Amino acid sequence: MKGGFSFQLLKGVEGEGRLGRIATPHGSFSTPAFMPVGSQGSVKSLDPADLMEIGTEIFLCNAYHLYLRPGTEVVKRLGGLHRFMGWDGPILTDSGGFQILSLCALREVESEGVRFRSHLDGSLHFLTPEKVVRIQEELGADIMMVLDDCPPHPISYGEAKAAEELTTQWAKRAKRAKSGDAHALFGIVQGGIYSELRRQSAHDLMEIGFDGYAIGGLSVGEEKEITFEMTEMTTSILPNDFPRYLMGMGTPEDILVGVRTGVDMFDCVLPTRCARTGILFTSFGKLNIKNARYSRDEDPVDPQCGCYTCCNFSRAYLRHLFLSRELLAYRLNAIHNLFYYHSLMRDIRQAISQDTMDQFEREFFSQRGKGNGGDSEEEGGEIVC
Ligand SMILES: [Zn+2]
Repeated sequence: MKGGFSFQLLKGVEGEGRLGRIATPHGSFSTPAFMPVGSQGSVKSLDPADLMEIGTEIFLCNAYHLYLRPGTEVVKRLGGLHRFMGWDGPILTDSGGFQILSLCALREVESEGVRFRSHLDGSLHFLTPEKVVRIQEELGADIMMVLDDCPPHPISYGEAKAAEELTTQWAKRAKRAKSGDAHALFGIVQGGIYSELRRQSAHDLMEIGFDGYAIGGLSVGEEKEITFEMTEMTTSILPNDFPRYLMGMGTPEDILVGVRTGVDMFDCVLPTRCARTGILFTSFGKLNIKNARYSRDEDPVDPQCGCYTCCNFSRAYLRHLFLSRELLAYRLNAIHNLFYYHSLMRDIRQAISQDTMDQFEREFFSQRGKGNGGDSEEEGGEIVC
């Protein structure tokens, strides 16, 4: 264990992005940061040594999943999540509000908490804001998220208002339930696609006071323009000296926009999920390794990439592995995709530091579709975050 949680804003230029450093009891990381998703306590197909090698500084686990399986008690008994997984770096746990919405057949929200049926075995559970904090403390998360009422899209103004108010009530209770300073706790701004509600939510959470602020309930089916409008409006209200986390987004393009609106932390299943469907991110756009054109291609996935996969293997070999359903395909693809994301974040941080975001963005987009092997949008496959 090192020190406690802190956020240092190193640089912030409106419309360009923010540079920061977040310290946690298990080490620190630079922002803007991308956090790979390891909901079940594992970033699919990668082990902690792989993650360190590709530059992962923090990753995300899910309290909902780990509470259901193997159970909080098991993880606690085995020394907490870090020891259980063999990962000594920072861990953020999501509370499960979104998973209960998206995975559970039964979801009944009451003022006291949320009742749901497990998506695994149909068993009935009731989670309260206090219990969700306790679960995350027992897991040993460095950064915990409050339980929020994450409503589906589309919803009426009235429904969004009710969800926002309940999220605020639950956030107050979560803050009271937190014990000590060993774990940071982030509030989650809700309010659907309604500016007024988002504004209210942000102000209410700031009044309660959290270690950081997340923007939740977006990217659930609304138009992208609205997603970014809500994000920008929210970050303009949130205090400068606390980290901001845009939950569940996005594509490399989304991240660029998010950074410019002042977001510090991102997570998304996209790079690892795409790895499992043969879609690879490159400096010239998406590449679908299943395409026949790669069957004799001895080039690496991305000649500009320095990852283990690109340094050692050809597109032809990766295509063969994928079509043969060899397990190695998923690992090599995931290594490349996450390395790409972490490199993107490093480049963005450098550009913010050197005041060259405009130039960086121009080059980023000018390379799209160039290079031998860049697949068109159709060939690259539909990507859903
Ligand atoms: Zn690579």
